[in-house]
Amino acid sequence: MNIEVVKGDITAIEVDAIVNAANRQLAGGGGVDGAIHRAGGPEIMAACREIGECPTGEAVITTGGKLPSPYVIHTVGPVWKDGSQREDELLASCYRQALSIAEKNYCKKVAFPNISTGVYGFPKQRAAQIALDTVRNQSGYVSEVEEVIFVCFDQENKEIYDSLL
Ligand code: ADP
Repeated sequence: MNIEVVKGDITAIEVDAIVNAANRQLAGGGGVDGAIHRAGGPEIMAACREIGECPTGEAVITTGGKLPSPYVIHTVGPVWKDGSQREDELLASCYRQALSIAEKNYCKKVAFPNISTGVYGFPKQRAAQIALDTVRNQSGYVSEVEEVIFVCFDQENKEIYDSLL
């Protein structure tokens, strides 16, 4: 599996599936979630309403609507409290579950945002290490997925990912 890091807006990326840092209600909101729904149009929300809810650490897939990527995989990251609320485990689970859904849907290229590192307050360095470790550990189990792109929106995350890679 090829792993890449880029800086930019995930809604502009053309891959097979982009991952959304959603909330449990799949209700849309701010940050990357809002950007994805704005760019993808109402079809994505309609598909989310049919699904209902998604527990923290799990993932669901919908159409990408008008986005350049045909699918959105919505995963619900943990809200950071103090590190004792299974935050690390739940964040790792987001990356694992999203990759597993990508595999089942024959997605060759998948783009991830930096899940939980915005409003949900997860420490960025710690989140990046978990993201990279988890994706690398899963790479042997997801043969359909040939490329994972970490799309960093802020310069701090970009620098952290560059230094870890
Ligand atoms: P969470 O609630 O999981 O913390 P946020 O959307 O607040 O989700 O933030 C997650 C990450 O997504 C942050 O690092 C933020 O900088 C980033 N982000 C915000 N908008 C975009 C976008 N359009 N493309 C890619 N990443 C984005």
